[in-house]
Parts: sequence; structure tokens; C-alpha cells
Amino acid sequence: MVEYYTMSTIMKKGNCFIILILLTMMFNTNTVGQVLSSNYLNNREPLFKKPYIELPLGSVKPKGWLLEMLIRQKDGLTGNLDKFYSKVMGPRNGWLGGDGDQWERGPYWLDGLLPLAYILDDENLKAKLKPWIEWTINSQQENGYFGPSVDYQPEKGLQRNNSHDWWPKMVMLKVLQQYYSATGDKRVLDLMTGYFHYQLKTLPLQPLGYWTDWAEYRVCDNLQAVYWLYNITGDSSLLELSELLYSQGFNYTNMFFGRDLLSKINSFHGVNLAQGFKEPVIYYQQHHDQKFIYAVKLGFSDLLKYHGQPQGMYSCDESLHGNIPTQGTELCSIVELMFSLEKMMEISGDVEFADHLEKIAFNALPAQVSNDFMSRQYFQQPNQVMITRNLHNFDINHGETELVFGLLTGYPCCTSNFHQGWPKFIQNLWYASEDKGLAAIVYSPSEVEALVSERVKVKITEETFYPMSNEINFTLRIQDQKVDNVEFPFHLRIPGWCKNAKIEINSIAWANPKGGQIIKINRVWKSGDKVKVTLPMNITTSTWCENSVAVERGPLVYALKIGERWEKKEVFDDPARFGEWYFEVFPTSKWNYGIMDFNPDKMEESFRLVEYADKQKLNFPWNQENAPVEIKVKAKEIKSWKLYNEMAGPLPFSRTVYGTNTNDITEEEVTLIPYGCTTLRISEFPVIKEYPKR
Ligand SMILES: [Zn+2]
Repeated sequence: MVEYYTMSTIMKKGNCFIILILLTMMFNTNTVGQVLSSNYLNNREPLFKKPYIELPLGSVKPKGWLLEMLIRQKDGLTGNLDKFYSKVMGPRNGWLGGDGDQWERGPYWLDGLLPLAYILDDENLKAKLKPWIEWTINSQQENGYFGPSVDYQPEKGLQRNNSHDWWPKMVMLKVLQQYYSATGDKRVLDLMTGYFHYQLKTLPLQPLGYWTDWAEYRVCDNLQAVYWLYNITGDSSLLELSELLYSQGFNYTNMFFGRDLLSKINSFHGVNLAQGFKEPVIYYQQHHDQKFIYAVKLGFSDLLKYHGQPQGMYSCDESLHGNIPTQGTELCSIVELMFSLEKMMEISGDVEFADHLEKIAFNALPAQVSNDFMSRQYFQQPNQVMITRNLHNFDINHGETELVFGLLTGYPCCTSNFHQGWPKFIQNLWYASEDKGLAAIVYSPSEVEALVSERVKVKITEETFYPMSNEINFTLRIQDQKVDNVEFPFHLRIPGWCKNAKIEINSIAWANPKGGQIIKINRVWKSGDKVKVTLPMNITTSTWCENSVAVERGPLVYALKIGERWEKKEVFDDPARFGEWYFEVFPTSKWNYGIMDFNPDKMEESFRLVEYADKQKLNFPWNQENAPVEIKVKAKEIKSWKLYNEMAGPLPFSRTVYGTNTNDITEEEVTLIPYGCTTLRISEFPVIKEYPKR
């Protein structure tokens, strides 16, 4: 289809010479050897070249604790959503040709199930995916349209209307891109070409907001798929479509520069924002203007100021809701912001995006899904001391079920969408670099196989317990028996929080780079070469609501360890909407602590680090019992800080001698553990400053 379209356009010009050149280009794009300098497909002109390029799905394999996350996903909801949420994900789903759910939920699940299946190389999961992919590809109509196309009467628990909406197809495009990356199935290219030509013709009459407004706010997911296909096929009409999509979508660059919306509460939908954050950077590929990067940075800075939370997220329950630490953040926002940061890192090479990604992945994400991946919260709170079915001052009320752990509690978007978090994170640990090297951008136990230099295949194993440990060990193997050594640049990210990293090559000190940059090791490598990166982690604090502080160390935020009692409850009033059961969690120890004032220049006097060597070998460090690192700190109970509506009451103002009345209270040493290991927690602590003793 691409060839036909391109040829017909060219034939009108009647220039045989141009035809010959274009035919040569087309031929080259369909072979593995691109007319490009890198070993992998980078952007095609006039799109500007990205510094980093995603590797084919399956090239990066998780190890250690990260592999355990995927196995738990496979055994939990991700691998079994068709069974546990059969009403939506069963054979009646519209994306299987049924009369059930016609909208976003099916594609959402596949967006996580597909990378999970191919990263684990699991035949059962692949078989589960197949009917969805086959139905989707075969659903394409003569005019290029694909997907469900019949609207049905309302039925409880299903989204059966707006089947023509542009939005759910954007999710399915992401699914198909990953499917092509893993399998090379060319039918994907035909489907997308036909659909994008259909969009080009139809959008002027039925614009993005024709059915619902989600497509206007989330158009960057459509836009990135258009650029992706353009890079493969070179079909120039795709760059007309990209401009049309951009012009019909919500303009995030203007919003970030305007600064008004982000400074208010209830002004913007949290998940839209998480997805939309990447819009300026996606479009920047076509218009290489630094203002797009700057807009995103300004947006993040305003968001942090007005709605920021220590675990890297922002309040959005569901709209932006200020910086009180009992406001919620939605699970969909977490996984969507992770995907946005992954894309922005690849396109811009900006280390800050990777730092932010690690913060969310290592703190917010593990905290909101249960250990067995069988339940999740709709919202989490940074100060979360009790999880009950109760009204919580969120801007939306779903039968008071937003905090409790369940299958459908709150709203089922998160049940369908959270699966993409870890698999895509793994896919983005490593990139090919434009200079024919390899880049370890985000750190976790893993293994990568990729081409470097002149198409030499290497494997690098990354052994580490990061982020719970600060040592990362890489070992390189050349996979081609005939090649003894190979020269290529190995890119390493030094996180912004790290003052002085230490890099050793084969046990010999190589460099001590400062944080906030990418270091390239250019050398001739041979099998068995080892690189050791040490990223010293200091205990620091950041300032939040009411002058409170969060305690951080490296990429991890530390929160108060609170005893938990889980109670399973039945849903009697509306099981079709909220599921049949849910878990409440009650504190079994005190939570209302303020930490004693400390000298930021002498942190070691107030904060004591405890590491448990035996727990650093565990496959699953993400719960209270297994937390391998603790920080001990002096604290006092603040008796006046009490529950309000079954959540932590208003935060006492910090570092003031008024109000906390703690002079007569005995000082205790309390334990902080990584935020991602907590279910109940205080992460924004009041700081107690007392009257000087007379
Ligand atoms: Zn959601």
C-alpha cells in the first residue's frame, strides 16, 4: 500500500530519475540494512535523529527481582485477566468481535500483556494474545478503518458505545507496534498505512473530539505511531497526518508556557496530563526547537510546586488536587507517566527524564499493586495511614472505594491499564545509541543482546540489587565466535542525585564522574570485560506541604514502617461495579510521628542507615518483611495529629516551636523503609522543633 501510494504520487510528476532514487530508498527501508548510520532504525529525515533507539522487543531480559515482578504479573492479573475480569476481557469483547466492551479496556490490557508475553517468551501468554491480534488485523475495512464499529445499548460494567472513537485505537496502535517489534509481522505495516490514510481523509470531517474528548488530550500516542511508521515506510503523507493530528490535539506546549492551569486545583485530568506530558517532545522530532523540551521542564517544575508528591507523582484524584499528602494519585497516571518519560528519554537523551522514571518505578508503582498482583488501588496517598471504604475528599467519589485494594474498586481503567508498567520499563532499561553503541540508561538487574559497531552481536549482563544497592556490575560477551574484540561506546547514566560516581573497568579505576550526565566509555571490548559502577547514595531530605520533609536516599524515598492488618470485605451494594470483594488495611502501630529537627550538614548525626545483607539476595524486596534497607531516625509522637475521616488529619506545620506540644513526650527511634515496600506510610513528615530547655 505504501509503495502504491508513493508511486502514484510520483507518476504524476513523470520523473523517472526520482522514481529510481525513491525505489532504491524503498528497497533499502524494507531490508535490515538501513541507509542509516546506526544498527537500528532511527528517525528518517526530515525528522531529527534521536540519540537513543529502542531495541526490538525481547532484546532486554529482566533478572533477579525484576524477573520476579514479571513472573508475579504472569501468575496474577496480567496473565489471567480474561478469567478474573471475564465480563470485559472474555470472548464478548468488541476487539474479539463480540458485543461486549467496545472501547479502551481490551487494548489497555494487551498493551501490557503483549510485552510481558514476549519478554518472558511465554507460549501460553502469546496464545492468549493471538486471537486479539488476528481479529484486530482482520477487522480492517476497505476504507482503512479498523477495530470495533458497532455501538450497542448500555450494559452495566461495559463501555459499549463510541466504538468509532479515535482514542482506543491509539492504544491498539501501541500494541501493534510492539507486536511488529517482536515478530516482524508485515501485516501491521499494511494495517497502519491503511488506517493512517483513512485518518488523513476522515479527520477533517470527524475531528479528534468528534466522539469523546480523550483523543484530543492523548493524541501524542497516535502521533508517535505515525512517526514510527514513517521511519519504516517513508510514506510522506504521514507527515501531513502528523501535522493534522497535532493541530487538532490539545496543545500542551501552550499550556506549560501559559502556566495557569497547572497552578490551580481541579483544572486538568491526571491521566491526560501523564500521557500528554510527552506531546511536545514527540512533536519536537518533526520541529527541532528546544522550546518543546523547555516547555516540558517548566510543566514538571510547576506540577511539582503545586501538586507534587515525594514518590515522583502528583495529586490527581482524578483532577489535579494540590499538595496535601492525603490527596490521591491514580495508578493509570503512574504507568502512563512512566511511558511518557521513557519516550522522552529516548528522543532527548535528557538524564532528568530517566531520574524521574526511576523515582516513579521504584517508589510509586510497587506500592499501589498487591504483592501477588491480584489487586490494586485506584488512588494511593503519600501519607496513607488507613485504607478503608470511606469518603476521602477526592474530587470524585466511586462509592468510597478509591483507596481499598480490589479488582474493580474505584474505577476499572487501572485494572486494565497497569500491566504495561514493568514490561515497558524493562524494554527501556537499555537502548541502542546512534553512535553504534549500547546505553544503560535506567538501572536494574537485566541482560541485553544487541548489535554494536559493524553489526557485531554482544550480550551484556547487568548484575545488581539496585535500587536497594549502589553497585552495578556489567559483564560483556561477544556473541560472534569469529570476532575477538569490538570497539563501541558504552553509555552509562550517572543520576542527578549522585555526587561522585566511581567507574572501574576490569577492576581498574577509570573515572569519577559527577551526577546528571551520560558517560561514554569508548574502547575496544573483548569477552569477559567487566565494568563496575558505584553510585554512592547519601541520605537527603526534600521539602513538601506545610514545610514537611521526605527522606530520600538515591532513587528511593523512605517512609515510616507501620504495622498492617489486612481485612477482606464483601461488596454487598454494587458488586457489578466495584467487584465482589476488597481489602481494607488498618494500622497496628502508631503513625503520628514527627521527626526531630536535624542539621542538614550533619545528616549522619540524625539518620542511621541499616542494611540487611541476607535480604539483599531476596527475589522480592517490595514489602515490609523483606525491605533490605532501613533508615532509623529520632522522632516523637504528635498527640494532636489524629485521624480525620479515616485518614491522616491536617499535617502539623514543621520546624516551628508552636503547636506540636511534644516537650514532655519521650523521644523514640522510628524505622523508615523504602516507600515501595509500604502499604501504610508517612512519607511527608512534620519536623519537630521544640522550645529550648530552660
Ligand atoms: Zn485508571
